[in-house]
This record gives sequence, C-alpha cells and structure tokens, in this order.
Amino acid sequence: MKGMSQALKFGKSVHDNGWGMFTSFLAYKLKEQGKQLKKIDKWFPSTQMCSTCGNIKPMPMRVRTYTCSCGYVGDRDHNSARNIKKEGIRLLASA
Ligand SMILES: [Zn+2]
Repeated sequence: MKGMSQALKFGKSVHDNGWGMFTSFLAYKLKEQGKQLKKIDKWFPSTQMCSTCGNIKPMPMRVRTYTCSCGYVGDRDHNSARNIKKEGIRLLASA
C-alpha cells in the first residue's frame, strides 16, 4: 500500500492506521464464518495479466479495456479482479 499511495499520490490516508484496522477487522469477520483472508503479493501483475490465458502485457492507466490475442476482451478492473480471485484460490490451495 505504501508504494501504491506514493505512485498514485493518495497521501498518507491509505498507509496510516486505517488500512491495518480494515484488514484486521476483515480477517476477524471472515474467521467467524470459517473463511480466511489471503493477501496477494504487491507485485502480482493483476492488471497486466490476461485472466483467461495468463499472457502479460503493459497496461497504461488510460487503457480501460483489456484486449488479448487469445480472444479475451474485458473491462480493465474486472480482468484484474478475476486475476486476484484466481491468485487467492491458488494461495489457498498451496497453503
Ligand atoms: Zn489471453
């Protein structure tokens, strides 16, 4: 989060106590339901990776749609979310 806030100029708000409290609370609430919180590596290329075939390509911020040579076309953030979900499942399976 520190690197992200510096890159995006969020200021101090995301790396003060708020983020830590949020993730602690989230982990607690998930545990109540028999679930667990998995954090993915901050360098995981969720935005650059195709969520269908795993190909990686540069994705400048202004590009809002991910278009891959495998035929996948999707919203930038939706593609990223699919990659994060897959990585979370991979981490759970390897734990
Ligand atoms: Zn692809």
